[in-house]
Amino acid sequence: MLYNKNMMLVKFQSIQYPVFPGGAIIGCSAGFLNVPKIKGTHTAMKSGMLAAEAAFGSLREGTSLKSYWETLGSSWIWDELHRARNYRPAFEYGVIPGLAICALERYILKGRSPFTLKHGKPDHEATNAARLHSPIEYPKPDGVFSFDVPTSLHRSNTNHDHDQPAHLRL
Ligand SMILES: Cc1cc2nc3c(=O)[nH]c(=O)nc-3n(C[C@H](O)[C@H](O)[C@H](O)COP(=O)(O)OP(=O)(O)OC[C@H]3O[C@@H](n4cnc5c(N)ncnc54)[C@H](O)[C@@H]3O)c2cc1C
Repeated sequence: MLYNKNMMLVKFQSIQYPVFPGGAIIGCSAGFLNVPKIKGTHTAMKSGMLAAEAAFGSLREGTSLKSYWETLGSSWIWDELHRARNYRPAFEYGVIPGLAICALERYILKGRSPFTLKHGKPDHEATNAARLHSPIEYPKPDGVFSFDVPTSLHRSNTNHDHDQPAHLRL
């Protein structure tokens, strides 16, 4: 299923038409994060590859960058994001109903839900002008109760073998 520039038939959350004159939006900026997995490096890489191919065709053969949008629609990115589309808006109904809907999506429907949930309001209505807010002054880590990022990472005890096989395959 493909979606047009006017966003008709949109079945995904927060994905806009990503092509503009002379450029294209890829990765998380384009909304390609898989929310339930909190993974998006693979869709960022793949969408970058598809955009690069479209740009190459545009430069070499004069084809339109719009082919990026079309190849996205037939790539595994679309299948994956379609299966993940209901997780975030499920929480519009509250935490407990949201968890229940996510469990239904994950264990029973497995991405084949016949419905697409919607967010309560458009993204742009969830933000305000910066002048209406004050910058948050975060205290520097004190090394006792709060720590800088490298220290926190070290303390999380995350450990990878040097020759660990990559779990992502493109
Ligand atoms: C806590 C957390 C854990 C995650 N874990 C995983 C995981 O295990 N596996 C996985 O696949 N994904 C994971 N992700 C998601 C993953 O990080 C993102 O999907 C991925 O980084 C998106 O890549 P990107 O290139 O689209 O954007 P980004 O990696 O966000 O890169 C955008 C870059 O643009 C720069 N930038 C922004 N504005 C400007 C500007 N005006 N001028 C110049 N530069 C600018 C930013 O500084 C940044 O470097 C995680 C995300 C978070 C937050």
